[in-house]
Amino acid sequence: MTFPLAPNAMIGLVGGGQLGRMSAMAAARLGYRCHILTREADSPAAQVAHAVTISDYADPVSLRAFAAAVDVISFEFENVSAEGLALLDSLKPVRPAPSVLRISQDRVTEKSFLNDAGVATAPWLSVGSLAELRDAAKRLGLPAVLKTTRLGYDGKGQRTLRDAAECADAWAALEPKPLILEGFVDFACEISVVIARGADGAMSAFDTVENRHHAHILDITLAPARIAEGTAAAAQSIARRVVAALDLVGLLAVEMFVDARGRVLVNEIAPRPHNSGHWTLDACAASQFELHIRAIAGLPLPPAVRHSDAVMKNLIGPEGVALWPAIVATPGLIPHLYGKAEARPGRKMGHFTRLFSKGALPGELGVAAALRLPLVG
Ligand code: AMP
Repeated sequence: MTFPLAPNAMIGLVGGGQLGRMSAMAAARLGYRCHILTREADSPAAQVAHAVTISDYADPVSLRAFAAAVDVISFEFENVSAEGLALLDSLKPVRPAPSVLRISQDRVTEKSFLNDAGVATAPWLSVGSLAELRDAAKRLGLPAVLKTTRLGYDGKGQRTLRDAAECADAWAALEPKPLILEGFVDFACEISVVIARGADGAMSAFDTVENRHHAHILDITLAPARIAEGTAAAAQSIARRVVAALDLVGLLAVEMFVDARGRVLVNEIAPRPHNSGHWTLDACAASQFELHIRAIAGLPLPPAVRHSDAVMKNLIGPEGVALWPAIVATPGLIPHLYGKAEARPGRKMGHFTRLFSKGALPGELGVAAALRLPLVG
């Protein structure tokens, strides 16, 4: 395979969710076709792609057929087995490399990697038994956050421990084992940086943004983050350091806490487009999805310039979908819906963005007003 990929080349994307959907739309604009590998019969990504393979991510026959049909392979879903990754990697270029996914798939591997790269995280200990958990709770102090090391997302697979008496229940409740105990960060805010990196090492990073969660799920992103310039710059330099240490080709999202003293601690990394980068679709000339596709296709990376300030709000579950008529009826809101047939509670159904002139992102009350929707129907 020669890079850059020529127009009409086929990009294989593992995972059929909204990140794959928006990546496939960006790929189409660049003249590429996408082939989606997903378990779902009617997936958001397959609705806008050239081809789809519906299969388990571990089935070697399907993985082989998928690899044979594409020129390069990337991901919107990271939890592919090590064997599956090795098989894909033996057949076609996989970007980012399986070594990167192996690091981000496991919180212990991820935090060890970050700390070895000189990047600060909350203090943490790996716990393999209830006795180890009790000991870790003593050493780190409470409160602390107990998490599964694998397969956790949107707050699933985690418990905050406030009292040592909660150890036994929390240990029994969380699967799969082993677990990780992290010191509780009393954060002033949560921020993130999305950064693209090409095979030649060139990087292009979007501005540092601020993220607000509701019930452990991202609710709102403010672009840019309303934090001290030095803090935003520290986040940028951490993102550059991490993406270089990983030798990643593709896109990386780095989620961070800013603590009460203004220190920046990395919470987790995701080697793919990220919910906190959706604002880039509307507020940047080239979005995170375009940079993802450009990086894996070997195209040059344009600077990730923001032409507007932005607020992005997620539409979650049935309540989120219920807002849709008001959103499409409100001038100035930019709607995005992901094509999911069923609005289960907690499911990301879509999002909308409101733009402001650069430098004019309003204060707290202004943001609340900007997101207030008229009653429709
Ligand atoms: P995660 O699944 O690691 O992304 O965590 C989901 C959310 O839980 C984060 O965005 C934080 O709001 C919160 N959280 C996770 N880890 C910690 C921690 N060590 N201290 C405080 N809050 C945390």
